[in-house]
Amino acid sequence: MNIYPWQLSSWNEILLNKTKMPHAQIFFGHKTEEINNFVNELSKSLLCSQPDNQNFACGICQDCLWMETNHPDLKIVDFDSSIDDSSNSNLINVSSARDAIKFLELTSHQKNGKKIVVIYDAERLTISASNALLKTIEEPPNNCLIFLTVKNIANLLPTITSRCRLIYLPKPSIDAANDFLKTTSNEDLIDYLEFFNNSPIELINEKENISQINTVINELKKGEKIDLMNINASWLDNGLNWIINLLQKWSYEILLNKISQGYNYFPKYKNIINQLSLNADLKRLLMYQKTLNEIKTYAQKPVNKEINLNSAMIEYKKIFIE
Ligand SMILES: [Zn+2]
Repeated sequence: MNIYPWQLSSWNEILLNKTKMPHAQIFFGHKTEEINNFVNELSKSLLCSQPDNQNFACGICQDCLWMETNHPDLKIVDFDSSIDDSSNSNLINVSSARDAIKFLELTSHQKNGKKIVVIYDAERLTISASNALLKTIEEPPNNCLIFLTVKNIANLLPTITSRCRLIYLPKPSIDAANDFLKTTSNEDLIDYLEFFNNSPIELINEKENISQINTVINELKKGEKIDLMNINASWLDNGLNWIINLLQKWSYEILLNKISQGYNYFPKYKNIINQLSLNADLKRLLMYQKTLNEIKTYAQKPVNKEINLNSAMIEYKKIFIE
């Protein structure tokens, strides 16, 4: 099984009646990587000449072998590098959309086979590209399928979404997330699941940054006693945005605890968060959220990262009543 376990029920539902699949479908959910992987496996499954009893591609037929390089009946629509070379943009423009439409009008390689067009991260479609696709979505040639993936359905034109079947791919339950960490030998990471919004995939991808997170938390834990001399330039190794994100989650946890005794990201540090929230001033905590948000708006720009980190830490110290 090459999809994630929490996607299996969606998989079965979609493939239950695969001969009568709607021509145009939009897959959306909380994690782009998971959605795109699902659609990639779905395309493989539909083009494979001998899928298994769960409808997964066999991996050995000629079609599956083609899938590893370039299948003649599959087109992945991407931005046109020849046009957008200098602009650094990855938008999918109208010429790419027209290529996809032309492709769908050709006869398939297999006799009466399907032709599939996939547009990953379809929020990249320009308005004119969306409009060009619209007509094909409304009146598709025979045996063609159009799959779009998008994180947030609101980022597509309503004229597109209203003409497609919408498929929401759910995030894993806490139990499914824990099981996944166990079966992938990542049991030691379970304590950090909440920090990564209960996404085991995000957590595994960020695995190598766990020790950095711990280093920073070991300072933050000290509250008003934090030693500003311990702030290290290496905290910025993953960028200013990364560390601000960590500070946001940590201070939000203190705020949440102050207001509702709740926990969200750091259940592992329950007692410490509780102590910090008792010592924190509510008004200053709220101000601090605002400060971090402001830094975040320009964190990606060329700003002096050390100065911003230092000021974020000085402000953090001020949250606590001495
Ligand atoms: Zn196959």
